Amino acid sequence: MKGNWRDNLYIVTILFFILGFVNIIFAWLGFVCMILPFVFLAKDKKKTWCQRYCPRAGLFRKVFNGRSLTGKAAPSWLTKGRGKWIVLTYFMINLFILTMSTVMVFKGRREAMETVRFLIAFKLPWDMPQLLNIGGLPNWAIHLSYRMYSMMLTTTVLGLILAWLFLPRTWCTICPISTISDISLKKMNNKKQ
Ligand code: SF4
Repeated sequence: MKGNWRDNLYIVTILFFILGFVNIIFAWLGFVCMILPFVFLAKDKKKTWCQRYCPRAGLFRKVFNGRSLTGKAAPSWLTKGRGKWIVLTYFMINLFILTMSTVMVFKGRREAMETVRFLIAFKLPWDMPQLLNIGGLPNWAIHLSYRMYSMMLTTTVLGLILAWLFLPRTWCTICPISTISDISLKKMNNKKQ
């Protein structure tokens, strides 16, 4: 492969979704994608992940650079208004549901949910094939994997739709990782003053 290796990081996003078909437990890799941006933020005091490495932003660029429907920026009510706070709220609710439901499965108070859902509520009309059988996985780990896969799928599909409609990295203007990073950076800068 030619060019900067970072240009090919979009493959990581594609691999993530393919690995879910191999065995859903690989969805735990989604946690790496959630944690690494903040590791870089703490180390560099800037959004290094977003600026250089994010495989999801790489995918948006790869698929829609120069191919977006309008080729224009998204309306400001979405990118500069309440859009990012709505997405952040969705993300926090999703994380809460993911955590609490996993704890309940762990305690045996509910069954593991072995389905992929879009936007928390909508069950995909097919079962994920599991090409590799990994025995002995606890129910709660499988449940957590499906929930993580669902969250990653939802945000990636929304990001792809926005990239198709507007500019490739429109999702980045409302991405919860970016919003939390901005809040953290603001706090760091305030402390310095
Ligand atoms: S804003 Fe979100 S999608 Fe965009 S580069 Fe940062 S982490 Fe990736």
